[in-house]
Amino acid sequence: MPRPVRFNIHPIEADTAGAVSVAEAPEGYTGEGFFTTKLSDVVGLARKNSLWPLPFATSCCGIEFMATMGSHYDLARFGSERVGFSPRQCDLLMVMGTIAKKMGPVLRQVYLQMAEPRWVIAVGACASSGGIFDTYSVLQGIDQIIPVDVYVPGCPPRPEAILDGIMNVQKLVGQESIRRRNSEQYQALMNSYGIQ
Ligand code: SF4
Repeated sequence: MPRPVRFNIHPIEADTAGAVSVAEAPEGYTGEGFFTTKLSDVVGLARKNSLWPLPFATSCCGIEFMATMGSHYDLARFGSERVGFSPRQCDLLMVMGTIAKKMGPVLRQVYLQMAEPRWVIAVGACASSGGIFDTYSVLQGIDQIIPVDVYVPGCPPRPEAILDGIMNVQKLVGQESIRRRNSEQYQALMNSYGIQ
């Protein structure tokens, strides 16, 4: 005799009133049937709300990222649910975990394979500074080999901190000029990492 399966016997009605928000419009002029703004702001608005992350997870911090993707924290709320493992289709490299020096060239290659514009988050103490592993074999921060836009502190950082890091990247992306990547300063930054 199979046991009756009972679940959700007291379903709770979700309170969705006010839970759905729309992206904030950029600064501009609005009138009867029109809205004008800067092209840079529109591109920034689209980019920041559709980041495609590439998770480069090597250890414990990656587990926190899994929680960040779960239904409770839900990265999809930020338009970033399309996590991919193809560098050419992603624009946000999330490095989570201890990066051994042997792994350095691999990480750098993944970064190089991503198309511009691309952004990088160092999640956790290990990716940011080597963390507690002050040893001969561990890279003391991924910014020794690739440029980093946002650092998320913690060992490990909680999912809220990872979300905060993503929101900070969104801020950068939304405010970035579409000409920044062609600027001399950006070229100089890339050259300092030996990237053409
Ligand atoms: S920062 Fe801490 S939790 Fe994250 S990978 Fe390093 S040791 Fe693990």
